[in-house]
Parts: sequence; C-alpha cells; structure tokens
Amino acid sequence: MSGKRESRKRLHGSVDSRTGGEQQQIMPEINKRYVCEKIDPDKVERQTAVILHMEYRSQAPPLLIDDEDGNEKETKEEQELMYYVHYEKLDRRNDEWIPLERVLVNEPVEPEMVNAIIIPDEIKKEGGPQTPHTPSGALTRSQRRNLEEYSHLKSAVNGLDATTARLEKEHEERTKIKNIPRITIGAHTINSWYYSPFPPFCENHEIFMCEYCLLYTPHKSKFKTHLTTCKVRQPPGIEIYRKSNLSVYEVDGSGQKLYCQCLCLLSKLFMDHKTLYFDVDDFMFYVLCETDSSGAHIVGYFSREVESANNLACIMVFPPFQKNGYGKLLIQLSYDLSKREGYIGTPEKPLSDLGKVSYRSYWWWILMKLFHIHQGHTVTATFLAQQSGIHVDDIVSTLQTMRMVRQYKEPEFVPGEWYVRIHRKVVEHCVLNEYGKPPGLLLDNSKVRWGPQMTRWEYNRKHQKPASTNRRASKSQAGTPMATPPIDGLKGDEASAETLTTVPESFEFFKADSSAT
Ligand SMILES: [Zn+2]
Repeated sequence: MSGKRESRKRLHGSVDSRTGGEQQQIMPEINKRYVCEKIDPDKVERQTAVILHMEYRSQAPPLLIDDEDGNEKETKEEQELMYYVHYEKLDRRNDEWIPLERVLVNEPVEPEMVNAIIIPDEIKKEGGPQTPHTPSGALTRSQRRNLEEYSHLKSAVNGLDATTARLEKEHEERTKIKNIPRITIGAHTINSWYYSPFPPFCENHEIFMCEYCLLYTPHKSKFKTHLTTCKVRQPPGIEIYRKSNLSVYEVDGSGQKLYCQCLCLLSKLFMDHKTLYFDVDDFMFYVLCETDSSGAHIVGYFSREVESANNLACIMVFPPFQKNGYGKLLIQLSYDLSKREGYIGTPEKPLSDLGKVSYRSYWWWILMKLFHIHQGHTVTATFLAQQSGIHVDDIVSTLQTMRMVRQYKEPEFVPGEWYVRIHRKVVEHCVLNEYGKPPGLLLDNSKVRWGPQMTRWEYNRKHQKPASTNRRASKSQAGTPMATPPIDGLKGDEASAETLTTVPESFEFFKADSSAT
C-alpha cells in the first residue's frame, strides 16, 4: 500500500473526531449510504453515496500479458476489499470502485431526499442559455423549461407498464456495475461510463479496440500485432458526406454485421438505459469520422432502422469528441436524409435526457427560422412540419413549453389540428433567450452525396404499403460514391483481424434509445 493511501487512512479512518478517541473500524454495508470521497484530477469532494456491491479486487484492472512461453497470463495485482458506489447526486456514469479509506463511515450522512430530481449538469449548461440578470438561486425560464421536460422524462419512466418496468428493473440490476473499466481506441484511453455486454473474458479488463475495424481484445500484445497488420483505414461503407476533415460513412448493418455489433458494444459503454440492437441487420449506421493522412478516425455515429418511420434510432458522440457540435451535425444529417426520402422524420422515443436537449435545441433553431418568415401569422403545426421536415408531435411538444400552440373548437378551425400564433413578442423573447441559436457546426447540404432511388411516397404507392414503412428503399442504392476515396486502396478487410476477438453469436438484447451528444 502506498504511503499516500496509508496517511489518508490514518486521517479519517479510525479516529472519531467527535470523541477524539481511537475506535474500532466500522465496516460499510451494502445498500447503505455513506459520505465518500470522490477524487477528480484536481480536487477531492465529499459526496453521499450508496454502496451497491463489495468484493476483493485490485484497484487497477489486471493486465493480460504473454509469459516467456508465449502463453497469456494475468498480472497479479494486490487485492483488497473494494466498494462499488453510486454517488446520489451524480449520474450513474460516475459510479466507481473505491477502497475502504474513501468510505467515511464515521461522517454523518444527510437525510435521504425522496423523489428528488437531479438536473444533470449538461442540461443546466446546454439546455438553454442562462439569462444573465436572474437573481441568484432562481431558475431562468429556460432552466425551468428544461427541468419540466426532465421531470416529464422521469415520470415517463415511472409510468411504464408492469412488464416493461420489471424488465427495466432487471436490466438495471444486471447492468448496475460497470464491467469494463476503460477502453483504448485510437489515440484515446477513456474510462467507461456504463455497463456494456462485452463477452465475459473481457470483464474487468481494459479493452483495446482498433479504431478502424472496431475489433477488440483485452490482450495488449495481440492488439499491438493487430495494429501492424490491420489494413483497414475507414468504416466499411460508402462515404456520403465530406467537408474539410469530416466525413460520414453509411454502413449497412446487414452487410457489415460484425463492425456494427462492435460499434454497438463500444457505444453502450457511454449510454445508460439503452437498448442497443445487436440484431443490427435492420439498421443503417452513419459513422462520423475526422480524417487525416493516416485514416478516418471514428468520433460518433447515428443509426436508423430500415423499416421504421423514425429517422434516427440511436446517436452517440464518443466522450473525447463531445462539445464539438458533432451531435447536432448528425441530427442535421438525419433530417437531411429523411427529407431526401420525402418523409417527415422523428427520432426514436424515448429520448435520453441529453438527446432531448440536443433535439430541442435543433427544433428551436429550425422553427425560429420559420417564425421570422411567418411572424404575425397563425399557422398550423402540419404546415410547420411540411416546411421543416420535423414531425408534428415534436413541433407541438417543443412549442408547448412556450404555450405557443393550441387547438380550437370553433367551426372555422380544423378539429384536432394544432395552431401556432407567431406573435412578434414571443419571437423577440425567444431571440433574446437564444432559443434559435444555430448549431456550432452546420451541415453543408450540398456536400451530402446520398439519394434514395425512389421517394418514400413512390415506394409506398408501388408496394401499396402503409405510409412510412419503406426504409428498405434507401438501402443498397444509398449514395453516389464520392469522386475519390479519402484513403487510397484500403478497403474493409477482416482477414487481418483474426487475432482479435469477435462478437459472439448471442448477445443480450437491449432496448434502443438516443443519447447524449
Ligand atoms: Zn483493425
């Protein structure tokens, strides 16, 4: 044990400050709340946490190495009793294993808050700009709006039917402990946020994943060998968008099953309550990459189900690349594609808390552009949907937060239709609060090389299918290839990847959801 840890243990381990006397160490218990030390790079904070699990394990994950005979073996790290804690006021992504000396058993714990709503920092930060002149302590209007939305989200989860609620509970129980401590991909080593169903032999090990073919292994030496032999330098699909150093590749889940399953495993590390479909056959994946002379480096993606009215199933920007505007760029692209297919799209629900914030901000931006054109008029939500490509339900739910929509019983109005009165004052208020603030990164529609052979309407007419079930129409003919591939002569080739572990046949099945961007 290091001297630093020893001294910390002495500091608050067994001496009770109230009595000043030496006492026997009280051992923490599962499901009980304690004040715990949360250590961030620059500070140590005291947070109330619940102990979810305890076991003997090493503080650092063991490494898999080759011995002199070339056989794999695990490094033997010193083991000690460790506690898996959930910090009450923080998102599950902060859950972690901590040693005994960071559980301050003698510190009094603040009373438990029942049904408390925790507003994630991201919602406070990204959900809307803060009005500068708000008296301290009071919520700004946009914060209130976001809080309302977040509460609705919570109650939506609480209001699940019994079976879904039970499955949700089971899922939560099974996935409450992170199984993969961290992952190295490309130039980044990232601590994982949540459980992901990697195969058992990966559990509790750092995973090494090839950023190009996405094959993974817990064996560092095998990974190094792979890097020297892997010829892949871009996602296995058609490049449908390129502007400066950003490219998007369309990858067909049915044709590139392995790649897409690995992508799902990777993204699950950073998504909570997600239902990732390991049955990836019915999904198309749009993989965003930063490109340079060495290749196309994956930074995020969105998927969409082929036979679905949703234009987006799941969205993810990996942690090192967040806050670059990539999430909203992907959202813009998802709408661009559905518009090209001739239908009005909507993301799969329920949206995650952070996904909702990104979408709200995108919808406000598009709607505000229309409001400037139609200021002073009353228009229908259907009209706005046709003009914007945003689904009526999403428009109504966005505008309801500002009480801008209503239905009328009078005979001159269409029953069931939502009407939007675009008052100058409301528009001014929205502008003042930067509701329609454009995304940091704008999609250049002229650079999207993608077009279905026939529109959704034509397809439905031809196949006499009910509306919005023709996503297959977009497959296989998706995209006119770009004039020159970004990396010469290198195509998806899995031959070199034999040394790495691939996804086993059967995977746990998760429900899909959109996520933080
Ligand atoms: Zn590779």
